[in-house]
Amino acid sequence: MTPDLKDRKVVVYGLAKSGLAAIRLLRAQGARVTALDARTEEALGETGRELKAQGVTLVTGPTPPGLLESQQLVVVSPGVPLALPEIQKARAAGVPVWGEVELAWRYLSHLPFIGITGTNGKSTTTALTGELFSRSGRRTFVGGNLGRPLAEAALSPGDWEALVVELSSFQLEGIDSLRPRGSTILNLTPDHIDRYASHEAYGEAKARIFRNQAQGDFVVVNADDAHVLRLAEAAKVPVYGFSLTGRPVAAAPTLAGMAVAQPGGFRFEGAGDKGETFTLTNRALRGAHNAQNAMAAALLARLAGVAHEAVQAGLDSYPGLPHRLESVRVLDGVEWVNDSKATNVDSVLVALRAFQKDVLLIAGGKGKGAPYQPMVDEGRGKVKGVLTIGQDAGTIAQAYEGSCPVYACETLAEAVRRARALARSGDTVLLSPACASYDQFQNFEHRGDTFKRLVGEL
Ligand code: ADP
Repeated sequence: MTPDLKDRKVVVYGLAKSGLAAIRLLRAQGARVTALDARTEEALGETGRELKAQGVTLVTGPTPPGLLESQQLVVVSPGVPLALPEIQKARAAGVPVWGEVELAWRYLSHLPFIGITGTNGKSTTTALTGELFSRSGRRTFVGGNLGRPLAEAALSPGDWEALVVELSSFQLEGIDSLRPRGSTILNLTPDHIDRYASHEAYGEAKARIFRNQAQGDFVVVNADDAHVLRLAEAAKVPVYGFSLTGRPVAAAPTLAGMAVAQPGGFRFEGAGDKGETFTLTNRALRGAHNAQNAMAAALLARLAGVAHEAVQAGLDSYPGLPHRLESVRVLDGVEWVNDSKATNVDSVLVALRAFQKDVLLIAGGKGKGAPYQPMVDEGRGKVKGVLTIGQDAGTIAQAYEGSCPVYACETLAEAVRRARALARSGDTVLLSPACASYDQFQNFEHRGDTFKRLVGEL
């Protein structure tokens, strides 16, 4: 099934991280590569110059008519919609169109592949599953939509014994033969409405993860999510669930086993065995949402043969990802938490649920137009003050009026300074902005890093 691409004419469409990784892989296979991008050569800058220096044909701007049809393969980056007319035409002309992940898979199909998708929690679950596999001593590639593109793993397949891969719905649209040993859809909430005609269409893109699974493979789904359960009915392999309550929200499909949260951890009732218990005390995995991510990761690992002890060890040692409920420092009994990745209200709800009381919340930035009221309701009795920053500060202040004190700080530096003065031992200062960062920062990472620096300087 490994394709022989020597001297084949291949276009790579979209020259961001995964497109460039695909080019490296194709060149290593001896393909004749044309790199295509809708941006101008000027906008591509150094990337374009480097490609040309390597002997890659560079085509920029609108796709020349007939270019794709004249190829033996078209590889698309996840940022390029497959619905583009020129891609449809190439397909109609019989040219295979693969995503970068599909291309990489063709060189990796002998390895156990764990595929992880969903609206939220993909990166956390992928990083954690990678940790559990690594704890078992397997040389594990962790990447995909998160971190390193899969094509990098395909450059040296001999380096790996397992692949743990985050897959966005865009990447799943571009798969053809990719067959995960284990797959999961973590959850589905409305997202990417701009690219999908409907919530159904978005779900169908995610359900492609099950498509090629066959005997010996397995599926893990969120039994608390009715839409996910419905999609899992299409799976042809055993389906395992994870749940916070132990009562799946919908009847179908029949579950081969289930992980259920319990105080201090969770239990996995597999088919026909006595069941197993895991403890979950790692601060990097606090909150009900992380219990779900942990159950998903543990099921994926256990069902793929990782020993119970390795799974438990990985749950304990997982360091967490930056900017997601990241514990930065405890100073005079006050914990400072960086949740800069929370760029919308839903993420703040998830964060607030992870704390019982005495939260000083830093929020604001470039708002997305969603109402802030749900945040106010979720925080009642536990948010003791809100420190606002950025463009949407006024709207947030209005929402909290009459609910708790609001301190208008404008900048993150001022918010940190005020929070330091306000906080008492036992409090948590939580940066969970509910907004994008672009009004004051380059991106959420820049915002989170700035917060960490400011807190470090206290
Ligand atoms: P993704 O890669 O899917 O964006 P992350 O692991 O980076 O997911 O988490 C992004 C944000 O999504 C977190 O900051 C948190 O607010 C929220 N989140 C994480 N896991 C879950 C989950 N299981 N259910 C709902 N929300 C979650």
